[in-house]
Amino acid sequence: MAGVLDDAETGRVLAITAHPDDVDFAAAGTVARWTDAGIEVIYCLVTDGDAGGSDEDFPRDEMPALRRAEQVAAAKCVGVHDVRFLGHPDGRVEATLDLRRDLARVIRQVRPDRVLCPSPERNYDRIGIGHPDHRAVGSAALDAVYPDARNPFAFPELRERESLAAWTVREVWIAGGPDPNHYVDVTETFPRKLAALRAHESQTGHMADLAERLTVRLAAVAQRAGLPEGRLAEGFRVLDTA
Ligand SMILES: [Zn+2]
Repeated sequence: MAGVLDDAETGRVLAITAHPDDVDFAAAGTVARWTDAGIEVIYCLVTDGDAGGSDEDFPRDEMPALRRAEQVAAAKCVGVHDVRFLGHPDGRVEATLDLRRDLARVIRQVRPDRVLCPSPERNYDRIGIGHPDHRAVGSAALDAVYPDARNPFAFPELRERESLAAWTVREVWIAGGPDPNHYVDVTETFPRKLAALRAHESQTGHMADLAERLTVRLAAVAQRAGLPEGRLAEGFRVLDTA
């Protein structure tokens, strides 16, 4: 598809998400294809998912460490070994200047060719995709890509105190938005996506029908993409941001 950076020209991808498990539900099949192609993928999580889980008896103060560990384990299932946490409070994320600076910092540190992030828009088909934290992170991530990370005069403290030079991200992939324009066939990598999601035991342990639910959902995306019967796909809105 025109306008999409060739994986062979992509050295590094930074996946920015709000909560542990977001990247796995949205894009782990695609991430596995990227790492298979030799692309280095780094995860940056804005929160520790400390408001997550369904077991009311589990001590809340142990939730951040548990969810971090689950995300690190899930990342390994799809070939990702660098997972960074910004520690913002789960459920209260806003697209503030502080968050934009935090994300611009990570972009300048990682220097990715491609950024993956959630959509800042609501998706009226599935209310959960448009969680307020997802929308806030999507909005702040896009602002961090343009203009914050690339403008050397934005957040001058990043350059002056942390020696972080400006960096231009060439492409952004938005997951979970209302209008995908690019699809990735993840039939081959689906077992690893499933393993990654199962690593989020505190979130998915009670979902006996996880594999079936995912298969139905990804098969519908594949159908929308025009792929043959029996294929599974993940969908994205890809933006040229060079
Ligand atoms: Zn989430």
